[in-house]
Amino acid sequence: MHKSALPNRKETIKNIYDAIVIGAGGMGSASAYHLAKSGADVLVLEQFQRGHTFGSSHGATRIIRFFYDKPFYTELMKTAYTEWRDLESASGKPLLFITGSVCLGERGNPYGQSVRRSLDAAGVPSQWWSATQLTERFPQFRVSNNIDILWQEDTGFLHAAECVLTHLELAEQHGATLKEETVVTNIDWHGEFPTVCTDNDQFRSKKVVVTAGAWTGKLLAELNLPLTVTKQQVCYYQPTDADRFTPDRFPVFAEMTADGEFLYGIPAFGSGVKIARHGRGDRVSPDTCQRTPDTDYIAHIDAYVQERMPELRRATHAEVCLYTETPDEDFIIDRHPYCPDILIAAGFSGHGFKFCSLVGRIMSELATNGKTDFDIHPFYIDRKPNTSSGIPRLQT
Ligand SMILES: Cc1cc2nc3c(=O)[nH]c(=O)nc-3n(C[C@H](O)[C@H](O)[C@H](O)COP(=O)(O)OP(=O)(O)OC[C@H]3O[C@@H](n4cnc5c(N)ncnc54)[C@H](O)[C@@H]3O)c2cc1C
Repeated sequence: MHKSALPNRKETIKNIYDAIVIGAGGMGSASAYHLAKSGADVLVLEQFQRGHTFGSSHGATRIIRFFYDKPFYTELMKTAYTEWRDLESASGKPLLFITGSVCLGERGNPYGQSVRRSLDAAGVPSQWWSATQLTERFPQFRVSNNIDILWQEDTGFLHAAECVLTHLELAEQHGATLKEETVVTNIDWHGEFPTVCTDNDQFRSKKVVVTAGAWTGKLLAELNLPLTVTKQQVCYYQPTDADRFTPDRFPVFAEMTADGEFLYGIPAFGSGVKIARHGRGDRVSPDTCQRTPDTDYIAHIDAYVQERMPELRRATHAEVCLYTETPDEDFIIDRHPYCPDILIAAGFSGHGFKFCSLVGRIMSELATNGKTDFDIHPFYIDRKPNTSSGIPRLQT
């Protein structure tokens, strides 16, 4: 690849990159890092500025956990954890914080049973706790006896916004170029190499990695991917006694309520204790979505908090974020059906962040070797919908 500048000529004429990554969010930043680290000449194109808050990867925290009711996620998480720890070593920054987790549900709820089976199959330890055990260890919770409580010690959270910036910084240190405020308008795959078009430029590349989050459907309109973008919201709480909710004294928690709602929480880190409902957001366009939180949503979470953790009182503020959902809530990681030089990672359905470190590696392997040893069959575009127990799942 030749990087010499020729004035007044479009970059397409002089550059053939090894890989162009479209989108510098969670998945794109990780892909850029792994590609650049492997020696590839990488260009990253991002429509906003790094660390922006219009997509899916902003905010202080995201849950990282082994507990899933689909065993293939639990298996993949083993490498994802290792990759996050490697990123901490490479950057010298703390990014992953282990708190342990409790997963709450009605007595005998099938989700809890299914999660336990998945953990057992993967050899990941977990324990059923009684309500007394829970409140002895974490007196912040108010629970009845008629509840299942599954403890898993490896759960924690990632410092999400910092993870994105760190992947980008290290990618740049390995030679990647990031162009911000650069909207990709089209990918033309009819030539020898795919050409990525923006309003002002065209860039050719041996491989193109599409990690465009909520904008993937629009960018790859020809594929009519089954992606739905929804508005999601998270609430933050500042308890009077903040020390009781720090990561060393309060766990990540998740709860499937009797009426099928999924709620989750993350200890105080930065903006306070984060509590939210998974899914059920309104369908929106990522370009026009109102980023103001809804008061009825906040009231709904406040009511839950009053019952379960009353010390947290009322939300002090809330944040809006986007999910890009597939019908079975499983990811899309695959080649473009019409052009194998275009690789797609999308549809992370509200639970993808913990996998960024691994997805970045997989995208790099697919781009440089044409294959990966990780099992990505569940994520192929033409898969049959992945079902497990047939029950709704707690994601995030
Ligand atoms: C409220 C909420 C809570 C969540 N909690 C968790 C959790 O606890 N644990 C977990 O694992 N996951 C969680 N997730 C999911 C996780 O955050 C997402 O799956 C993940 O961030 C998706 O990353 P992404 O790279 O696909 O999208 P994004 O981070 O949005 O990145 C896409 C990027 O592409 C850019 N882009 C798009 N189109 C173009 C274009 N045409 N030209 C140039 N650039 C373009 C966008 O600007 C954006 O920067 C949560 C998500 C939300 C919304």
